[in-house]
Amino acid sequence: MTIFAANWKMHHGPAGARELVRSVLARVRPREDRKLLFFPPAVSLAAVAEEVKGRHDAAAGAQNVYWEPKGAYTGEVSAALAAEAGATWALAGHSERRHKFGETDEETGKKVRAALAANLAPMLCVGEKLDERETGRTEGVVVRQLAAGLDGLDSGALGRVTIAYEPVWAIGTGVNATPRDAAAVHRTIRRWLSERSPAGTRHRILYGGSVSAANAESLLAEHELDGVLVGGASLDAESWIGIVSTPRPER
Ligand code: PEP
Repeated sequence: MTIFAANWKMHHGPAGARELVRSVLARVRPREDRKLLFFPPAVSLAAVAEEVKGRHDAAAGAQNVYWEPKGAYTGEVSAALAAEAGATWALAGHSERRHKFGETDEETGKKVRAALAANLAPMLCVGEKLDERETGRTEGVVVRQLAAGLDGLDSGALGRVTIAYEPVWAIGTGVNATPRDAAAVHRTIRRWLSERSPAGTRHRILYGGSVSAANAESLLAEHELDGVLVGGASLDAESWIGIVSTPRPER
């Protein structure tokens, strides 16, 4: 199964979101080995959820949730509210949340747990900054983020979590990790997860960071990648359809 996840960031209100999902799904036929995830802004969740209804190969997700179930938290959206709007997935710890909004490892962990409690499938984003890569700290940073996000979860809960490896220096820059470098970090992540799961569990690990229709094939040729999380290149139908149509080599 290959997962193609579209993170629209702060783009596409309800009307535009509806139109985009409709035109993509009209041209992309369902396939058992492919899942399409749409992460629109919160105000567009209900519209996207309506459009994916009846397509077992497509789902809507929240870009962010707050960890408290309800209360006086002006401007926040709980996991339960996102679920009520039709989300079945939720991102946690996207690098823009961590680095533009100062979200801590600990807060990200609370968001993963809140998503699980609301029956949303969490997608935990992890990844190192450029200076961390250049000073050989990639593995340490990623493992620290995994531990803060997931420590203490039982293997059943862990099995419901998807990881997106998104090096910060690759997000929105046009510079993607090489397939080889991405796969190496995926192996570190897989090892960490395997040590906490029953033997034989296949955890889903996606790569994100300047994925485009031009580089998706070489990235997805790496069997370590279970899919891609895409920002800029998921914002229009042509480019997104190009990416989700990427052929994968036989395993
Ligand atoms: C993202 O927003 O998760 C992302 C990977 O963005 P981009 O594809 O634009 O680098």
